Amino acid sequence: MSNFDPLESLADMRHEFGEHGGVNMSIETSTTFTVMQAATMPEIFQGRIGPEQGGCYLYGRHFNPTVYVLGKQIAALEGAESAYCTASGMSAISATILQLCSAGDHVIAGHTLYGGTFALLNAYLPPRTGIATSFVDITDLAAVERAFTPRTKVLYCETMSNPTLRVANVPELARLARARGAKLVVDNTFCPLIVSPLRHGADIVVHSLTKFMNGASDVIAGAICGTTAFVQTLMDLHQGSLMLLGPTMDPIVAYDISLRLPHLGLRMAEHSRRALILATRLSERGVPVIYPGLPAHPEHGLLSRLKNSDFGFGGIFCIDAGTTERAFALMEELQNRDRFGYMAVSLGYFDTLMSCSAATTSSEMPGDALARGGVLPGLVRVSIGYTGSVEQRWRQLEDALRHVGMIR
Ligand code: PLP
Repeated sequence: MSNFDPLESLADMRHEFGEHGGVNMSIETSTTFTVMQAATMPEIFQGRIGPEQGGCYLYGRHFNPTVYVLGKQIAALEGAESAYCTASGMSAISATILQLCSAGDHVIAGHTLYGGTFALLNAYLPPRTGIATSFVDITDLAAVERAFTPRTKVLYCETMSNPTLRVANVPELARLARARGAKLVVDNTFCPLIVSPLRHGADIVVHSLTKFMNGASDVIAGAICGTTAFVQTLMDLHQGSLMLLGPTMDPIVAYDISLRLPHLGLRMAEHSRRALILATRLSERGVPVIYPGLPAHPEHGLLSRLKNSDFGFGGIFCIDAGTTERAFALMEELQNRDRFGYMAVSLGYFDTLMSCSAATTSSEMPGDALARGGVLPGLVRVSIGYTGSVEQRWRQLEDALRHVGMIR
């Protein structure tokens, strides 16, 4: 891989000043755009002129100038030629799949995925579109290879699987996909800045910007990164899934997220630093913990090779409490007695968020799929925040673990 530095790439972008010379860009809230000559309008409609060719815009569901700038920033972070933003992570994922697949096509996906993505591929798309998915262990490259059919259009995975934190071998998966004429789509929601999947051969990266990218759990948003040709296809007036299904990002949301990207690097480094300290201490105390930063993790070596420097191994670890009951008891202790964090789904917040995945964000997966994917009933996913001090958080964590009998 080239020595890509996502922060340098973002800093190298031309700065977008506000309309009056403000250091922050202006927000373009208009849903429609005027021109000086009537003949310009059909030119825009036929895609001959647009944001890149003279700044001509069409309509708010098509490219919006503020959302467009955020897209360029996300593209710079991911090392993509282009990117565009959407109303949610799920709309980024569904629009991408629908753009790449037609009725009768086939997807290969990791058997452990965010529950919403699993439900989309497993329950929603097949009866409505005839797009079928085979779920495989993405870390088993031979199984992935066996799953290809002549109709396979997409190989889909998460850089770090939600919630089991298995790491995808992006270069090898990209090689398999390319050999079969399929596109490798990677959900990089858990690993912004940490891994740059496009730089390892992925074709498309999708994001839920609702998580680390935004960092304050106050907006729902998504992004799709890839080639300029692919992003233009998504906006095609006749065939574009973003243009026609219309999961449009609000420009005010785009502005808000854009202002948080300059400190994403500092935030990711601190999420990861704290997660590593706490996960290391947990494992030293004999608590079953999954964290890719620990040498015992099956993909520790792989992630060490894939990751960019400076942002660590991610801000999430999982504790296996053994049973759902003990997982619930642990989270209640951590929230209500020790004030370690909050019982809430989602991740990437400045405070710590905890959820029992099998009972919540992975509950769309049927029991056998949960078992196959290793989503254990007592697994508590912990998204480590950076408020308070590390020592304070460790005392709180130890106290709760003692109370539920997981340590002495
Ligand atoms: N991808 C992953 C890995 C997620 O964890 C989530 C949500 O939790 C999503 C996608 C969906 O994102 P959104 O809620 O922004 O639609």
